[in-house]
Amino acid sequence: MGTQYVYFFGAGKADGNAKMKELLGGKGANLAEMTAIGLPVPAGFTITTEVCTEYYKNNQQYPAPLAAEVEANLARVEALMGKKFGDAKNPLLVSVRSGARASMPGMMDTILNLGLNDTTVQGIIAQSGDERFAYDAYRRFVQMYSDVVMGMHKDELEHLLERKKDARGVHLDTELAASDWKELVSEFKAKIKATLGVDFPEDPKEQLWGAIGAVFGSWMNQRAITYRKLNNIPAEWGTAVNVQSMVFGNMGDDCATGVAFTRDPSTGENYFYGEYLVNAQGEDVVAGIRTPQPINRAKYKPGDLPSMEEVLPECYQQLVQIRDILERHYKDMQDIEFTIEKGILYMLQCRSGKRTAKAAIKIAVDMVAEGLIDEKTAVLRVAPSQLDQLLHPSLDPKAEKKVIAKGLPASPGAAAGEVVFTADEAESAAKLGHKVILVRVETSPEDIHGMHAAQGILTARGGMTSHAAVVARGMGKCCVAGCGDIKVDYHAGQFVAKDGTVIKKGDVITLDGSTGEVMKGSVPMVAAGVGGDFATVMAWVDKFRRMKVRANADTPHDAKTARDFGAEGIGLCRTEHMFFEADRIAAVREMILSADLEGRKKALAKILPMQKGDFKGLFREMKGLPVTIRLLDPPLHEFLPQEDKDIDALSATMGVSAQTLKHKVEFLHEFNPMLGHRGCRLGVTFPEIYDMQVQAIMEAACELVKDEGFQIVPEIMIPLVAVTKELSIMRANAVAVCEDVQKRYGVKVDYLIGTMIELPRAAITADSIATEADFFSFGTNDLTQTTFGLSRDDAGKFLPFYVENGILEDDPFVTLDQNGVGALVRMGCEKGRLTRPKIKLGICGEHGGDPASVIFCDSVGLDYVSCSPFRVPIARLAAAHATLNAQAAAPAAKGAAAGKGSDAQQQPVAGA
Ligand code: PEP
Ligand code: MG
Repeated sequence: MGTQYVYFFGAGKADGNAKMKELLGGKGANLAEMTAIGLPVPAGFTITTEVCTEYYKNNQQYPAPLAAEVEANLARVEALMGKKFGDAKNPLLVSVRSGARASMPGMMDTILNLGLNDTTVQGIIAQSGDERFAYDAYRRFVQMYSDVVMGMHKDELEHLLERKKDARGVHLDTELAASDWKELVSEFKAKIKATLGVDFPEDPKEQLWGAIGAVFGSWMNQRAITYRKLNNIPAEWGTAVNVQSMVFGNMGDDCATGVAFTRDPSTGENYFYGEYLVNAQGEDVVAGIRTPQPINRAKYKPGDLPSMEEVLPECYQQLVQIRDILERHYKDMQDIEFTIEKGILYMLQCRSGKRTAKAAIKIAVDMVAEGLIDEKTAVLRVAPSQLDQLLHPSLDPKAEKKVIAKGLPASPGAAAGEVVFTADEAESAAKLGHKVILVRVETSPEDIHGMHAAQGILTARGGMTSHAAVVARGMGKCCVAGCGDIKVDYHAGQFVAKDGTVIKKGDVITLDGSTGEVMKGSVPMVAAGVGGDFATVMAWVDKFRRMKVRANADTPHDAKTARDFGAEGIGLCRTEHMFFEADRIAAVREMILSADLEGRKKALAKILPMQKGDFKGLFREMKGLPVTIRLLDPPLHEFLPQEDKDIDALSATMGVSAQTLKHKVEFLHEFNPMLGHRGCRLGVTFPEIYDMQVQAIMEAACELVKDEGFQIVPEIMIPLVAVTKELSIMRANAVAVCEDVQKRYGVKVDYLIGTMIELPRAAITADSIATEADFFSFGTNDLTQTTFGLSRDDAGKFLPFYVENGILEDDPFVTLDQNGVGALVRMGCEKGRLTRPKIKLGICGEHGGDPASVIFCDSVGLDYVSCSPFRVPIARLAAAHATLNAQAAAPAAKGAAAGKGSDAQQQPVAGA
């Protein structure tokens, strides 16, 4: 049999199932699954994503067998529904919707009520007995189709509608009569003909193919492309097209349409959360035009309209049963869409529901307790990149705040920023480094780039499932939606709150996405709490991950934060940061500018006690956990005085003329400092600097061991090594200093001496370098810089262009370039282990906190990743995902992968 391009579903039978998302898209796969498990789904069929891919490959031509397959499946739908497409008496109407593998809410096109024309509308009148409904449906179809398929501007037909209302002296659509809608259909068609020069298609088959083509076409529209880029969805995936019998939620008061989540997507609470509208069609709920009503009274607030539980109790009870069936079947929180036509409930969609990080964690923990999933599944349910949301601040409860309005708490967290009113303004202001709040009457998919750039989003209209709410939650952005307390005036560039406060463009406001409050000015915030369910999940995470997670921390304060977030050591202490402290920069400058060794030693002697104090603070805070201290790395001129007043001050303390100092500063200037006199090149040429630092490390350790009974194994790290000889010299010097200190103190302290692998040559010759190194730490910031020949400090000028235009998939300074830089990391690991099978391997570049890069690090067998303190939980979770996914991919290797990587694997150099 050849390729099957169309998959049928209806009356309890389906060609596809939920596992076929790649081929049928998320919507199609789940429609098939819901049908097969006996839920009431209107019959239809799915045209596969493969058709989309072939369509674009073959110059927008469909595969030859498609037409016949569509015909055959349409006939099956007709037979099942007892209706006929294009029939004058009992016509079948269909919806045509996109459905990609990953959900892309609102990004692509949808057409409803397809199949209506001047003949079939008579059949609908006859069947429904409602002429007004039939012509309303017809005009909606003409509006949607002419916009989506024919390229007619929406506003033009909307204008005719407004004119009609004026002519009739009414305000609301609902006040127009059947005859008005009928006239409007003709007026719309005449306008389309006049504007586009073509007739609106009467033939339902022509309409159908037009709609299918438009949905496939919308895969390549600008907003879909932007959304894919932001969400890393490859263009090759393509979309499927779902053609499904229409059911109507707008045929009267026994009809409704709604969306619901099987649990609260904002908090994760286990209650049935949803919104619906009586007598409304599909998109009305999400479009934010009418504010919907809650489906039940679980969270009833005074002023809420009656819930579905009260208005349509039987349908509500049936929906509750379906909720239970779906959760037990999918074992996950589902996002569903339903329609009630004349008292009969239909399911139009279900998918795994998008949720905030807070909800993801609560749902995972609850579902383990309910016996629905195991701990491993729970860990995999929380996306590492999402955790960021939880680690963000919320409003300080003690802070004073002036609440000027209240809307719906659509996406939690807090944000403050300057008000802007358009997505473009948000984007350009954010590029200039401003923090902005995007304020809109309502958002639409065109606003996606602005929402991305903003700190938070405030809308005047729309419910908890409006576009703004859904998209903001997905982005982990704070959002207050449906804030009817404000009146937005785009022309005046301001909004007015109910209490009369006028907020102009550029004024600062604060949003609390957890309460829905809008405040004037910037309200103080507090750091996120990390207890409760978060701690439960993180405890599971720690059980499953192989790699250790350390932090990059230079101060006892950072070290404490890191430990609070679960760091198991310090992977990088950048000692130069200690040199910038106000009380020591003068001594550092004196050291650099001294004319001879004696002068340098004198200055270094002033720095030594301060460094020793720094290291003691760090060791104490880390309570025996491993601490890697990197010796001085940056080019010396970074420390030099640039301004005359600083040079004069220094000349006074040093007793050297300002002129001499200026010459020395000029002498130290380098054209490419990043490739210049830095890293171990400083240690090689000025060994006394590293000697002082090693002495400070070892004296700190000895004093703590001797006086405070500590167990410490300091790890001394030499930066920017290119050739083995550099490291062997630095190592010999360090060992001599360590032994001398230990002898003086009369204590024995084990220590390690290792190096950063941050130059391509070091990775390529790692087998040789490993002869002198107890450990490697991959410095992927510099390794990326030197592998790409791309300046870390200047790349911002053109790198965004590269990423936007797909020349590079990601910014390589954010996500490790696995094929290039990653290949060097892999080579470094393999060669290092050839020489020293148990060499300790880690990473301390920024990539150590990037989930995709962490997973790569696991695959090459690093022992640990090290990242900034706030990213430690993200790295822990990503490391657990890496282990669990590796286990799932290779069940045979389970035992091996489950064993924990140990920082104790490597035997330290024995102390003297
Ligand atoms: C690195 O290069 O990756 C690194 C961690 O060192 P730094 O960022 O200090 O150069
Ligand atoms: Mg570096």
